Amino acid sequence: MKLRVVVLGAGFGGLELSTMLSEALADRLDLTLIDKNDSFIFGYSKLDVMFGRKTPGAVRLAYRNILKPGVRFRQEEITAIDPEARRVTTNRGAYDADVLVVALGADYDLDATPGLTAGGNEFYSVAGAERVREALPTFSKGRAIVGVISEPFKCPPAPSEAALLLHEHLTAGGVRAACEISLVMPFGVPIPPSPATSRALLAAFAERGITFVPNRRVRALDPARRVAILDDESEMPYDLFLGIPKHRVPGVVAASGMTVDGWIPVNPKNLQTQFPGVYAIGDVTSVGTPKAGVFSEGAARVVAASLIAELQGGEQPAAYAGAGSCYVEFGGERVGRVDVDFLSGPSPTGSFIEPSVALAGEKQDFGSSRRARWFGL
Ligand SMILES: Cc1cc2nc3c(=O)[nH]c(=O)nc-3n(C[C@H](O)[C@H](O)[C@H](O)COP(=O)(O)OP(=O)(O)OC[C@H]3O[C@@H](n4cnc5c(N)ncnc54)[C@H](O)[C@@H]3O)c2cc1C
Repeated sequence: MKLRVVVLGAGFGGLELSTMLSEALADRLDLTLIDKNDSFIFGYSKLDVMFGRKTPGAVRLAYRNILKPGVRFRQEEITAIDPEARRVTTNRGAYDADVLVVALGADYDLDATPGLTAGGNEFYSVAGAERVREALPTFSKGRAIVGVISEPFKCPPAPSEAALLLHEHLTAGGVRAACEISLVMPFGVPIPPSPATSRALLAAFAERGITFVPNRRVRALDPARRVAILDDESEMPYDLFLGIPKHRVPGVVAASGMTVDGWIPVNPKNLQTQFPGVYAIGDVTSVGTPKAGVFSEGAARVVAASLIAELQGGEQPAAYAGAGSCYVEFGGERVGRVDVDFLSGPSPTGSFIEPSVALAGEKQDFGSSRRARWFGL
């Protein structure tokens, strides 16, 4: 008997889970991996697209390259999830599973922020990053705001990276002196679990004349007056607004009855939901780590190891630690690294490695190792 696994979402979590199960179980595995898109892109590639460093075509990894024993990829839109019956409906059919893994990530709710679509930009989707790339050449003087709209949001370093890379972009274009850059963040410091990373980022902002606005969110934009309205009703004028939009679970997850307070609750040790045989990993959950690919991947590894142990009669893996490394772009082809651990101790901890060209190479290796492992490219 083969283990029938249905994996919803081929992002960081779904790809790693499918790869690990295929490697260990091969002919004992009958895994269906479903995603509505035809390709995957790393979250950080949106920064490359936004600043014109790469084209969208160059950063897309096509799912048709997934050729793994026991795994079949289906490009279909998931339209319903019944977690009690472990049955999934798509625009093309229905799937029943012994084990169902929900790895559908986080979507954006642009309409939740008055004025955002009419008067601003977001760079968290590929389409949004492409629009910013088109808008940037028209910005040569005035005020730019990189603004977080609500929590939680993906990749906590990304707004800081966007501000630093915007500085670099405007400097290269010879217009930096005519522009102001502000960064609005809901935290007191850029990366709360890592004081050293926060210190390095605050020093980099100070050196580059970037204004850091802590403990604030952008509530709305008023496109007619070109002001951003913050959550304390104070106003900041802008000529270019680069927003981090409100996040939410995909509609199909909200309709499945699996969420509590907006996200899927799981046992943080083993990623099980309250429904037998149903796991949830990554951004779609409220597991207690930030929303970042490295954490989705780590959660996938724990679920895969647990299923493999069950099938092969081995020992169950250690509890999920919620630990991972995030790379932080400082500009000038220098990248720093923050190593964080959210779940193994009483409170989150984080250490920092100073930005360097060597770490930029390590970040490249991070991407190319996943590209090879998941796509055989
Ligand atoms: C600008 C930016 C920079 C980032 N930088 C980093 C970084 O440096 N390091 C890092 O670790 N993370 C980074 N991230 C975050 C990272 O991209 C996400 O946290 C990660 O992709 C989450 O993985 P996941 O598997 O949980 O979900 P995702 O990778 O989002 O995958 C979910 C999948 O579900 C699919 N899906 C959703 N709904 C449906 C449906 N109804 N039917 C079918 N398919 C569906 C989607 O198409 C998607 O492929 C960054 C994100 C952004 C926006």
